[in-house]
Amino acid sequence: MSKLKRILVTGGAGFLGSHLCERLVSEGHDVICVDNFFTSQKSNVVHLIGNPNFELIRHDITLPLFLEVDEIYNLACPAAPGHYQYNPVKTMKTSLAGSINMLGLAKRCRAKILQASTSEVYGDPEIHPQKESYRGYVNPIGPRACYDEGKRAAEALFMDYWRMHKMPIRIVRIFNTYGPRMHPYDGRVVSNFIRQTLCKEPITIFGNGDQTRSFCYRDDLIEAIIRMMNNTNDFIGPVNIGNPVEFTINELAEMVVEITGEKLKFIKKPLPTDDPKQRQPDITLAKENLNWEPKIMLREGLEKTINWFKSIDFEQFRPPTPLY
Ligand code: NAD
Ligand code: UDP
Repeated sequence: MSKLKRILVTGGAGFLGSHLCERLVSEGHDVICVDNFFTSQKSNVVHLIGNPNFELIRHDITLPLFLEVDEIYNLACPAAPGHYQYNPVKTMKTSLAGSINMLGLAKRCRAKILQASTSEVYGDPEIHPQKESYRGYVNPIGPRACYDEGKRAAEALFMDYWRMHKMPIRIVRIFNTYGPRMHPYDGRVVSNFIRQTLCKEPITIFGNGDQTRSFCYRDDLIEAIIRMMNNTNDFIGPVNIGNPVEFTINELAEMVVEITGEKLKFIKKPLPTDDPKQRQPDITLAKENLNWEPKIMLREGLEKTINWFKSIDFEQFRPPTPLY
């Protein structure tokens, strides 16, 4: 029997989704990319259009969708704080109604379905590094709740479909991932610092810059989620996917300016409400079950990302939401 599959990628025109589509098409699969283009643009997948194994559908996953597929990667959801807080009700709907629609589609087709969850399910964590067994410290009524609680509820839905309907599900908790095709105006720290540096603007440091994040390069991430989807050992997750090497935001700023050869200019801005102080994945489960660990360290990944940012014309990108 052919190993080639019909695969739906929701959010497939986004930063991670477009790379995932590219990889799956290159493996010969029949890929359907569904996106409402809220935080992305067609240029991310234009090179795939015309390939007989690739199909692009403009659709919002909060509405039902009828397709025949073997696998679903559910990535549709605004991911940058400025984007998901722009219309928080819509963000919550995307995680809830969107997951219900995609789980329903998977159930009807008997498809395997993977949820792109997030380290945000741990909130502002009290334990460090974060293991999957940690239940998190999320503010359920703050400005990040639309995303954090939406993703937590989506995990609950996936687990309930698994328990109730014995569906093959997978859950990955993605930690900060960066790389080419991040939206230059998404306000996320890596894209912001690179764009600001290349445009000779001061870097915006929120708070005192001592808060930490662990940055994973997109190729490592894509490899991990494909391994998670394909694992045959019934490991459904949730599994942390990220690079466990932790940096302060100040260290990230210094590395970006050093690689670009610019001079460090920065301005301090207030720390956003509920901004997590530290974040580092414990990736023991991913190592044991997926035989996976990241290979690309921050400097190398930043060099590739900076080169891509140098190659694009910022004027060709429309900020999806007002800049903040
Ligand atoms: P992104 O914003 O580039 O991609 C999200 C895509 O989903 C965009 O193309 C957007 O237009 C689309 N989308 C949003 N709402 C939709 C809807 N209702 N219907 C259809 N399409 C919709 O962000 P990304 O970084 O590529 O993130 C992809 C997924 O991974 C998201 O679910 C995000 O929560 C998750 N994730 C990413 C990171 C990261 O660091 N990149 C970390 C944790 C989790
Ligand atoms: N941050 C910053 N300056 C920026 C953008 C972000 O100092 O221009 C900080 C932000 O406060 C947070 C970290 O960088 O502590 C990561 O922010 P990002 O929005 O990339 O993702 P998060 O991990 O908070 O979802």
